[in-house]
Amino acid sequence: MMAGPVLEHLGETKLELGPVNRGEGPWLRDEADGIVWLALDRGDGSVNTVSRDVIKGLQSHIETLESDTPGAVVIRSAKMAGFAAGADITGFDDMASDGAAELLKQGHDVLDRLEALDCPTICVVHGAALGAGFELALACDWRIAVDDASFGFPEVQLGLHPGLGGTFRLPALIDPVEAMTLMLTGKTAHTDKARKLGIADLVTQERHVAAAVDAIVSGDVERDAPGLRARAMGFDQARRLAARQMRKETEKKAPKQHYPAPHRLIDIWEEHGDDRVAMQRAEIESFATLLDSDTSKNLRRVFFLRQDMKDKGRGEDGIDHVHVIGAGAMGGEIAAWASIKGKTVTLGDIDLDPLGEAVKKARAVCKEMHLSAIETRNALDRMMPDPRGYGVAQADLLIEAVPETPDLKEKVYNRLKGQMKQGAILASNTSSLRLAKLKGDAPDPSRFAGLHFFNPVSKMDLVEVVRHDGTADDVTRRLAAFCGEIGKLPVQVTDYPGFLVNRALMPYLMEAMVMMDEGVDKEVIDTAAIRFGMPMGPVTLADQVGLDICLHVAESLKGALDKPMADISDRLREKVEVGDVGKKAGQGFYDWSEGTPHPDSDLDDAADDLTDRLILPMLNACVECLRKDVVKDADAIDGAMIFATGFAPFRGGPIHYARARGAKEIRKRLEELTGKHGERLAPDLGWQDLGARDASGRS
Ligand code: NAD
Repeated sequence: MMAGPVLEHLGETKLELGPVNRGEGPWLRDEADGIVWLALDRGDGSVNTVSRDVIKGLQSHIETLESDTPGAVVIRSAKMAGFAAGADITGFDDMASDGAAELLKQGHDVLDRLEALDCPTICVVHGAALGAGFELALACDWRIAVDDASFGFPEVQLGLHPGLGGTFRLPALIDPVEAMTLMLTGKTAHTDKARKLGIADLVTQERHVAAAVDAIVSGDVERDAPGLRARAMGFDQARRLAARQMRKETEKKAPKQHYPAPHRLIDIWEEHGDDRVAMQRAEIESFATLLDSDTSKNLRRVFFLRQDMKDKGRGEDGIDHVHVIGAGAMGGEIAAWASIKGKTVTLGDIDLDPLGEAVKKARAVCKEMHLSAIETRNALDRMMPDPRGYGVAQADLLIEAVPETPDLKEKVYNRLKGQMKQGAILASNTSSLRLAKLKGDAPDPSRFAGLHFFNPVSKMDLVEVVRHDGTADDVTRRLAAFCGEIGKLPVQVTDYPGFLVNRALMPYLMEAMVMMDEGVDKEVIDTAAIRFGMPMGPVTLADQVGLDICLHVAESLKGALDKPMADISDRLREKVEVGDVGKKAGQGFYDWSEGTPHPDSDLDDAADDLTDRLILPMLNACVECLRKDVVKDADAIDGAMIFATGFAPFRGGPIHYARARGAKEIRKRLEELTGKHGERLAPDLGWQDLGARDASGRS
């Protein structure tokens, strides 16, 4: 058994590395039996990111190793949370302005030198090795995966592709088509898959790491030679064929016009996939160009918006037990989600059938999330059907999700009086009723708020935390923390008609229906929105949300807003009357019996103002919400619209898009549209403010 650093988990966040030389910089160094151990421990955070100082520190260690070469070098992380989460994105803007290509070349040079060391280099990965972390691992000769390791390239989500050698090292290591798929989709390969693909040479447990290193150094570990496909991809023609297929698949999920990065990657691989030097040059050049693109800047913005929302959900929620009232489409899934995320949940309903359905749904969500049998059992154990409502008296939080009828909600609240625990919170999942009207029936109005989840709960990240004018601050703070605890992104909103998201979304959906009434084909309308960058068109979205729900929200908004809205389409009413309410009925505006529709129409004959007529009313409502302080600031609006509706992420959010296009220009356009189509499109007063703020230098 090899002597060397003792690698046992110590405390909460660090691995004990024996008598390490703490030294300067983010790398810890230790040496035993001729093997040098370098452990990455960057900053005070729980995870490592790869920054300039990490590369610089590694460079100085490599200089020493080049002149005094040991028997082997082992690279690993000193952080319990994992190997490295990727490059330090906070440094990307500086990198772009400091000459990205030159900085990248320096980074490549360091990894090339690591790769060229005249001794075995071994990377030990526990937890995630993503992006630049994965690239660091790839520059080593061998990779040992510990228990829960995962490898991946999430760069495409930031409008980039790997930039530190991943584009040529991974295809050289494993089946190149698998390598490209990982890079193009951003998906991660967990331990077993990583072993199967050939990314990890060994999979072991933490306590066997030293023995695994020993086995590699002693030459006891063999590696498969590259397979047939790897050899075939050395030929231009084979790559050309594979690239054509990749382009087709990629275009479906990430159209080239909006998301150039994966397409650039396919281009350079097709052209240089058989020439490492040329590929390296092309990777650096392409990465530097992409870094400066609007798409990447906006996607990085989205990354930080998410971080910001996560931060707003930090803190103690003081909520162990949740009681959900109403086990329908929303309540059932809210209960499932909260129990999967560790809360004790009781779930009530006046009928028994929905409770059974909710348990089935919970099982399905566990499956979709690839939870293990034990995790699934634990989640289901925590979720207790409770038709008699025993949980009411025990719960720290009650979430009401009964049908959207004020009288019914009133009855439910009245029954809770005198039953809830001291300090417990009552939150309604209402999507269109005003809390001001409901609060009078709540047992304690100061402990009553809205907690507006979106459908489907397991897929939609955003939750609106709604306060009325009497909600206690501590209640909204705890509800935001609850969202954080169950892995959702909270946005605090006021009790405005439709709150933020439905207020902004409705004019978009309603305008699409007006257009259909005018005779515009639904597929043309949806295609226009998809080309703008929306994940689906408004007609498909309305069907997915449920036409009954759309009608209900539209009616309640129409009665509550102090400005004109589109007339509610007769077609919508008719659909609801006959029960063709969309996806859940198998028929709405589209036929869903064969699955999700994928409209793709020719827009050549479409009216010029089609896209603006759809998108600008949504922006107009966002500006109104900003002016009326429905949310704290423009970033909260952008984040909420992206994470609840999928608003074209590469545009950075509705307000960001409006500013980039110009507030004045949009106001003018809305005036034109008003003249042509009616007062409902009149620009909100807030555009002047936004324009003035732009003129004063805000971007
Ligand atoms: P649903 O009709 O699917 O489910 C409601 C459930 O409540 C049913 O199972 C019903 O049996 C039960 N119920 C009725 N009366 C009850 C009572 N007195 N006590 C206990 N349970 C009772 O409705 P849903 O779509 O889940 O909507 C619930 C709430 O969530 C509504 O306020 C709705 O506006 C809101 N919401 C819905 C969506 C959506 O897309 N469906 C999205 C966001 C918010």
